[in-house]
Amino acid sequence: MGTRKKVHAFVRVKPTDDFAHEMIRYGDDNKSIDIHLKKDIRKGVVNNQQTDWSFKLDGVLHDASQDLVYETVAKDVVSQALDGYNGTIMCYGQTGAGKTYTMTGATENYKHRGILPRALQQVFKMIEERPTHAITVRVSYLEIYNESLFDLLSTLPYVGPSVTPMTIVENPQGVFIKGLSVHLTSQEEDAFSLLFEGETNRIIASHTMNKNSSRSHCIFTIYMEAHSRTLSDEKYVTSKINLVDLAGSERLGKSGSEGRVLKEATYINKSLSFLEQAIIALGDHKRDHIPFRQCKLTHALKDSLGGNCNMVLVTNIYGEAAQLEETLSSLRFASRMKLVTTEPAINEKYNAERMVKNLEKELVLLKQELAIHDSLANRNIVTYDPMDEIQIAEINSQVRRYLEGTLDEIDIINLRQIQEVFNQFRVVLSQQEQEVEAALRRKYTLIDKNDFATISAVQKAGIIDVNGHLVGEPDGQGFGLGVAPFSTKPGKKSKSKKTVKDPPSSSARKEGASSPVSGKDLDMISTSKTQLVPSSKDGDVKDVLSRDRETSSIEPLPSDSPKEESRPLSIIT
Ligand code: ADP
Ligand code: MG
Repeated sequence: MGTRKKVHAFVRVKPTDDFAHEMIRYGDDNKSIDIHLKKDIRKGVVNNQQTDWSFKLDGVLHDASQDLVYETVAKDVVSQALDGYNGTIMCYGQTGAGKTYTMTGATENYKHRGILPRALQQVFKMIEERPTHAITVRVSYLEIYNESLFDLLSTLPYVGPSVTPMTIVENPQGVFIKGLSVHLTSQEEDAFSLLFEGETNRIIASHTMNKNSSRSHCIFTIYMEAHSRTLSDEKYVTSKINLVDLAGSERLGKSGSEGRVLKEATYINKSLSFLEQAIIALGDHKRDHIPFRQCKLTHALKDSLGGNCNMVLVTNIYGEAAQLEETLSSLRFASRMKLVTTEPAINEKYNAERMVKNLEKELVLLKQELAIHDSLANRNIVTYDPMDEIQIAEINSQVRRYLEGTLDEIDIINLRQIQEVFNQFRVVLSQQEQEVEAALRRKYTLIDKNDFATISAVQKAGIIDVNGHLVGEPDGQGFGLGVAPFSTKPGKKSKSKKTVKDPPSSSARKEGASSPVSGKDLDMISTSKTQLVPSSKDGDVKDVLSRDRETSSIEPLPSDSPKEESRPLSIIT
């Protein structure tokens, strides 16, 4: 369980010589930003319209170096990712405000590298410092343009949209993009060259497809999997860091854009507002449905937004008066995001194969332990392996003999054998029940209760009376079948040896000892749709029943015993 956290929202102001000091002011703690809109700038502003706004955020980054930005925004997210927490860092803002500069940085100058290369450096540095863990790193680079997915690290030369379109797939492990190449990187240099390749593809794509790269969303993902070298090898942690360079947020649609630009703007406006809706819904714990599937961006980020992950938003703004309207809209987005709470949690996974192997090892060890105990206690060699068919048949025979009274006691050897004895009691009893039922069926023919013609025919013939009772069957005289109760077993001696004296079915036997077909079983018969009438060939059943009656020492039920006892045999229900 993680502690509740808010989405962290920072504002980065792009350096300018023309900073609008009168309109943009920062709070003393550098965590708030006040906007004052001068009326004469906005034509047609009515007097009572709001002109002042105050936004409370987690930090304002003004004239901040790339280094400071990384320290403030990304460092903790990356370091927690190594402990198994998913993290997402997003840059939001209008085109040209510095999103790509913040995320990727300037390639010409090492000092100006952005969050992405620095995150990769930190990841590999931390792995080096953590020899107790085997950590693998993979990366992927996805571009979403007009709701289509593009692999910026496709192993094939970049030729535009892939032939087989990529799809977003969800499984219990999370969300993944089918068709997106994920590259194993064992060192920083590999990761850097992949990043460089991706950036190059991004530029080539923007030329070949005549698309402006600021009109697409780019998601660079670092996937990590950490296995402890010292602790249990059954558990491991996984995490993802999504570094998202969002498309420009300016509302192009409003200013009369046409054709391609309008289409792009529509997609961008939609996906950014779906992103906002999803994050807000995630922060609302009363909501059980989060609209992730409304667009590719939120669907692809489903397991990395809000919820159980660390989330940071960097809102890039211009410092000039001319951009104030877009700046305001970006700051509104940031302050809404800041209200959203998340509950970061470790992504702990279990390696089922390892767990089975470890349990097998444990089992071998415990058997050895038992063998030692047995030999110290001078017990004969007892095996603890599962029983084979011959051993089970032997127990079955013991149980039968015990029930017949030819075996006094059943020796206890071990737990497995006791369980098998109980099991065989059940088997034998159920066989006996089946035999009784079969015998009854042979004696009586089944007639459908609704078959009035037949019923009246048998009534006429005098086989059953008008109440449905069998003619000539004394009421209350149940059939006896079964085995002698324990009290009558011959030759019961007390021995010091541990024995099974009261098998689980004995209480059942005591209750209905003389008539295993009474009680529950008879209820079943009596409530059935059919009824029994004596069949012509009743020889066998009589044999079975009388033989069993003889073995029973229980007195036949007195004739004044409750009628229910024999009702099922005298039929109609
Ligand atoms: P976006 O990705 O938001 O459209 P970019 O990151 O491409 O904007 O920035 C536009 C231009 O401004 C780039 O030439 C970039 O180098 C420059 N730039 C942006 N932010 C900064 C900054 N903080 N310091 C220096 N140059 C910046
Ligand atoms: Mg950009």
